[in-house]
Amino acid sequence: MDFKDYIRVIPDFPQEGISFKDITTLMQNGPVYQQSINELKKMVEHLQIDVIAGPEARGFVVGAPLAYALGVAFVPIRKAGKLPYKTIQADYALEYGQDSLAMHADAITEGQNVLIADDLLATGGTIATSIHLIRQLGGNVVGTAFMIELQDLNGRAKLPDVDVFTLTQYP
Ligand code: IMP
Repeated sequence: MDFKDYIRVIPDFPQEGISFKDITTLMQNGPVYQQSINELKKMVEHLQIDVIAGPEARGFVVGAPLAYALGVAFVPIRKAGKLPYKTIQADYALEYGQDSLAMHADAITEGQNVLIADDLLATGGTIATSIHLIRQLGGNVVGTAFMIELQDLNGRAKLPDVDVFTLTQYP
């Protein structure tokens, strides 16, 4: 299956020059959404994953079903100020803008194997920051998984020491 047939591309959103890849259309098709998660599962199930971490918000709709399919834990990585308990926090640059990410201080225990999941890899800033937070908590990042990779933005260069698994790629 070509998942691109189900991903909507919106020019100039959220600002001019950005070609936004919209996975809501893929998720509107139940069997296709299910297959996308099953394909990601096949790519990562050889890893000894204890926990999947997903950055807000689209990392939740990829990471949580993947965690359920694998029978492992899911932890959210959220924008600063959203999580109710003690957090650790780090700043990062987006493809368009700047933000802070946070995790609960007890979300991961020392030595746990963590896979990070998100909808899309662009510049890699979100995931590099997520890796930083997970390592700060003593987690061992065993890989990263995405529905979409934007190859020209070369996010992989920011993730030199982790495996990257992607369902579909755009230039
Ligand atoms: P990065 O940090 O530059 O790799 O950007 C990836 C993050 O920005 C992910 O959390 C994505 O959800 C979001 N993002 C960037 N570009 C797009 C897009 O075209 N479609 C959907 N999400 C995007």
